[in-house]
Amino acid sequence: MKWLIRGGRVIDPQNQVDDLMDIYIHQGKILDLQPVPPKRNATTFSDFRVIPAEGLVITPGLIDMHTHLREPGYEYKETILTGTQAAVAGGFTAVACMANTLPVNDTQAVTEYILHKAREARLARVFPIGAISPGLKGEALAEYGELKNAGVVALSDDGHPVMNSQLMRRAMEYARAFELPIISHCEDLFLSRPGVMHEGPTSTWLGLHGIPSAAEETMVYRDIQICQMTQNPLHIAHVSTAASVQLVRDAKKKGLPVSAETAPHYFSLTEEAVIGFDTQAKMNPPLRTKEDLWAVQKGLKDGTIDVIASDHAPHSPLEKEVEFDLAAMGIVGLETTLPLTLNLMHLGILTFPQAIAKLTQGPARILKLNGFGGLQRSGPAHLTIIDPELEFQVDIHSFRSKSKNSPFHGWKLKGQAVLTMVEGRIVYNQMAPTSDL
Ligand SMILES: [Zn+2]
Repeated sequence: MKWLIRGGRVIDPQNQVDDLMDIYIHQGKILDLQPVPPKRNATTFSDFRVIPAEGLVITPGLIDMHTHLREPGYEYKETILTGTQAAVAGGFTAVACMANTLPVNDTQAVTEYILHKAREARLARVFPIGAISPGLKGEALAEYGELKNAGVVALSDDGHPVMNSQLMRRAMEYARAFELPIISHCEDLFLSRPGVMHEGPTSTWLGLHGIPSAAEETMVYRDIQICQMTQNPLHIAHVSTAASVQLVRDAKKKGLPVSAETAPHYFSLTEEAVIGFDTQAKMNPPLRTKEDLWAVQKGLKDGTIDVIASDHAPHSPLEKEVEFDLAAMGIVGLETTLPLTLNLMHLGILTFPQAIAKLTQGPARILKLNGFGGLQRSGPAHLTIIDPELEFQVDIHSFRSKSKNSPFHGWKLKGQAVLTMVEGRIVYNQMAPTSDL
């Protein structure tokens, strides 16, 4: 199929483009990008089907570098098919999926299974993340060479911190040989357990066990020190506290290969969302204070935090509709991440290109995803069309994701993906029916 995406505002931070352009697509590739001409050469491109994009924004396909797809093992929460359906509906053309499946993605067989399922689904591209340690047990190192050959793009025991500092050092040294970044879930379990929310006056008032900010920050500090020893790229997952942001800022100033992500809930919600014992606000790391939220926003603005990731963590009602202490941690995020990110733009915190960079250029650079993160001639046509003016109310019942655990149900937001294209193929389309695609 040949497509002409006509007259949209192209925002491509990787190539420093922010301009009204026509994009020509042929055989899955971008044939040409041209500034909108006063008069188009109708004959040359008469056989292209037109997607009218006037008033819309076109970005490189969004990338979510922190998703839990749950398959294999927890298909009642999510499958690779439903997860990638949710991804494309959220504007994502690629997702990197965490290793805490059952079995854990610590061998070639599991990686290949995930890739096989993703190919069958034919929606968003899936990039598996391999485990740092077999079974996420933190006791030994997985076979990184085998995992890399099978297709993993990074290593992480996400969900389970690597408590043993020596093992973390060896993991970084070993990962370096295979050019795989380590994604660290920073949590000192001795400090965090048995906490269920942020530790402070609110947790005392509610009578819930608290998780101090230091449970995260001590591990961020430790991993940055180990990164300094080993010089292997380190990516800090889901940064939630002001001091963590500052530690990453200092590490970057020193020139260390450290990057960081946060998730929309850490810049959209505070611990107060837990009041009323709403289990939809239970997550790990927990929602923090206003000061932390502001620090995260500032970290995004000044470039300390490179990436916004969903930390999409589907759970069934079985695990959420129980008392707060017992409820599972995490929320779904693939279908709300883009509008919540654009909300930072409406608040005047990020510019449009800055917001898009956190969802495209940032993750593509950290995971070294070829052909993703930018739009260029002869490159694959992975792109997202966004209607920046579209106002809507978040409705969990409309989610493609199999799970509905979101604290944002009922929120009024502005700006959403209306069309998602992977390699020139439309995999999601909510554009006006008049465009007849
Ligand atoms: Zn995590």
